[in-house]
Amino acid sequence: TWASVPQAPPDSIFKLTAAYKTDTHPQKVNLGVGAYRDDNGKPWVLPVVQKVNEILLKDTTLDHEYLPITGLPEFTSAAAQVLFSAGSAALKEGRISSVQTISGTGANHLAALFLAKFYQWNGPKQVFISNPTWANHKAILKNVGIEPVDYPYYDPKTIGLDFSGLLNSLSSAPERSVFLLHACAHNPTGVDPTNEQWEKIADVMLQKGHYAFFDCAYQGFASGDLDRDASAVRHFEQRGVPLLVCQSFAKNAGLYGERVGALHVVGATHDAAVRVKSQLSVLQRSEISNPPTYGARIMALILNDSGLFEEWKRDIKTMADRIINMRKELFVLLTDELKTPGKWEHIVNQIGMFSFTGLNTTQSKALLEKAHVYLTENGRISMAGLNSKNIRYFAESMDQAVRG
Ligand code: PMP
Repeated sequence: TWASVPQAPPDSIFKLTAAYKTDTHPQKVNLGVGAYRDDNGKPWVLPVVQKVNEILLKDTTLDHEYLPITGLPEFTSAAAQVLFSAGSAALKEGRISSVQTISGTGANHLAALFLAKFYQWNGPKQVFISNPTWANHKAILKNVGIEPVDYPYYDPKTIGLDFSGLLNSLSSAPERSVFLLHACAHNPTGVDPTNEQWEKIADVMLQKGHYAFFDCAYQGFASGDLDRDASAVRHFEQRGVPLLVCQSFAKNAGLYGERVGALHVVGATHDAAVRVKSQLSVLQRSEISNPPTYGARIMALILNDSGLFEEWKRDIKTMADRIINMRKELFVLLTDELKTPGKWEHIVNQIGMFSFTGLNTTQSKALLEKAHVYLTENGRISMAGLNSKNIRYFAESMDQAVRG
């Protein structure tokens, strides 16, 4: 048995981390990892989460029973509120079906599965994804029989957004196409549309009757402000663009391993939302039966208590500000001090954990081989891997890699 099963390649990011771990170089730097690190390069348990952990530990009324199939209600409703805002018309009119998922990945999967089964496809089942995008998007779509089709997004010449390419593909795609959009802090490029550009995207989506499949993995983590990072989603919702949102609390609450997230599908009517939720529940039942409890309990407490919510916002800001400061420092080191050839404004203009440095494959490889700096070959670095102790070493190594 299984003699014909081919060996699959290891996941490139996890492979990079494994190589980093075995490296004995004293100044090695890991910029591959997609998780926040503090200024000592260590994982950070948010103080608000520590506090909530203590509350949960002392609560003798809690048990280990199953959650409902669609998740902990006080989590899913508060999660919808933090994303869409309490004033959202869709929320007030009961038009949002919210289901707890296995973090953002599970939300993406459930969304794709739901679309594959119930979307009124105009032609073949295909979802347009940005070029490039989070590598898992392709795999998740293919797993449910949807073909991922690239739309232009990143322009290597400007190390910024290829906005006209994006608009062209929105207008030339068949009507009622599905477009996967990163709500904020685009992974892997760190390049987001401006508010004005989002408005234009919404215009075309409305004209063409397109469907917005939002992936929101970094709310608050990008700018430090939960509302600002949700503005694209909220704008689309207000304008009536048909949409769903995949939400993750991995990054903004540092709950990576707890797998806490949600899928929100906005419907035209309350009635439609009730029917959608019933089908999401059927799909969820056959896949995981019930979502995990612990992370949802943590987030439900934080989201439903104004004091804890304020503390969470402060913690989010701590993480976002540290990353923004690393961007500023790196920019100053490259431009003012090292006078590294090239333009480096994109380092400060990009947003979120990731930055497309503009380094090519040869330069990225040189960084890895000569300086023991671990980054992906497309030149993407995780800003979270930089700190006050290693940023100078990194900037100098980058300078050398650019000079060749
Ligand atoms: N979407 C994007 C764009 C991401 O970058 C990530 C995390 N790397 C996710 C979704 C999902 O992460 P998780 O399943 O840990 O919430």
